[in-house]
Amino acid sequence: MINAYAAFEPGGALQPFEYDPGPLDAHDVEIAVEYCGICHSDLSMLHNHWGITRYPFVPGHEVIGTIAAKGEDVTHLSVGQRAGLGWHAGYCMTCHSCLTGDHNLCAASESTIVGRHGGFADKVRAKAVSVIAIPDDIPANSAGPLFCGGITVFNPLLQLALRRRRTSR
Ligand SMILES: [Zn+2]
Ligand SMILES: [Zn+2]
Repeated sequence: MINAYAAFEPGGALQPFEYDPGPLDAHDVEIAVEYCGICHSDLSMLHNHWGITRYPFVPGHEVIGTIAAKGEDVTHLSVGQRAGLGWHAGYCMTCHSCLTGDHNLCAASESTIVGRHGGFADKVRAKAVSVIAIPDDIPANSAGPLFCGGITVFNPLLQLALRRRRTSR
């Protein structure tokens, strides 16, 4: 069983909530959550502002933890390894976006807190392809936002090859 915090209605207070995630899929990992950030999208989902929230709703998509279990087809992560999980919890892996490295644009991507239970819990599950190994020397208590707000800002800087502007004196 997974012990989480869930809202049971739009805008409801988070309360202890236990659920059975079922057998671990061959392509999934289970992360033992160490820390989880909070993002405004958690609040939008909590209040069902986008009309896609299912209750009980477990927020949390800036997860830092360690791999607690992995499915038999998972090869790039090992049990005990530190890893993070952001907004996406799975990709189709067959569309053009997935096959060219733009998984974030996959039209069939799964979201960690849409139709799934998120990281405000002792454990969370996701497709292993959406789970990122992180170095041990990154502080676990502050790394969470790298998986949502952080990458959202950093990625366009990289994509657009923005450089520091030289100042003339
Ligand atoms: Zn977010
Ligand atoms: Zn895809």
